[in-house]
Amino acid sequence: MMDATPFSLKHEVAIVTGGNGGIGRGIAEGFAAAGSHVVVVARNQAKIDKAVEEIQQHYNARVLGFSCDVTKQTDIKEMMKEVHQKLGKINILVNNAGMNIRKMPQDYMPEEWDRVIETNLRGPFLCCHAVYPFMKETGSGKIINIGSMTSIFGGAKLAPYGASKGAIVQLTKSLATAWAPDHIQVNAILPGWIDTDLTRQARKDIEGLNERVLERTPSGRWGVPSDLAGTAVFLASAASDFVTGVAIPVDGGFSTFL
Ligand code: NDP
Repeated sequence: MMDATPFSLKHEVAIVTGGNGGIGRGIAEGFAAAGSHVVVVARNQAKIDKAVEEIQQHYNARVLGFSCDVTKQTDIKEMMKEVHQKLGKINILVNNAGMNIRKMPQDYMPEEWDRVIETNLRGPFLCCHAVYPFMKETGSGKIINIGSMTSIFGGAKLAPYGASKGAIVQLTKSLATAWAPDHIQVNAILPGWIDTDLTRQARKDIEGLNERVLERTPSGRWGVPSDLAGTAVFLASAASDFVTGVAIPVDGGFSTFL
């Protein structure tokens, strides 16, 4: 028989990295609206506190905030241990924290390359690695990795960012294959151009970007963080129990348009 509420996240415990702003905040709000307990993980404590307070108030959800750098394995393990102690389980993880350094390939310092790859690729792997024992203990789990249009397309000033976002799709497929027998589904979301701090900076740096995005996106607008919530709730809920290893564009048609 069909569950009457396959999209409900009632009593679930979801960690969202980068949940204190932008796309992560949009996803965290979607989870709270669907009934989940939410854990906001990022570095900026003031932004974490604000997100926790506002989500808690608006959605009447249990929300915790943790200052944690996703490039640091010890921090991640500590954070997950504490989440498990406080909320009893961890069964949803969204690897959303990310950053970019835009330069021509020949201009990158090796340290800059490392920083992008460490945040966008090694960080998600470390979080998946740390969450696995908790999901295994629960008997099921949902992992959502945030890719990008650069998981598909190239860009002159996107060498490490594109490499990290292409690799996140392959990481998703490997983890999905490995952990399917444990009832853990691992999927990716590939956002199009979404209005956040990250792209506000890009709009300042790249002349004509705003107009190009509007022209190149069939929906004729920038996405907003809440546009990601529906797909994230689907991938975090029982509705997607037979969906694993896929990368779903949420892009207003950007990736279908030549
Ligand atoms: P923002 O810059 O608004 O948010 C990035 C988030 O990541 C912040 O919450 C930041 O919090 C957190 N973060 C960054 N580094 C770390 C770290 N080392 N440890 C913990 N948290 C960290 O960007 P967006 O919301 O736009 O981006 C979110 C994700 O979506 C990224 O992975 C990005 O690549 C991806 N994306 C964005 C698109 C867009 O158009 N906006 C398009 C495609 C993909 P804090 O600084 O407090 O640590």
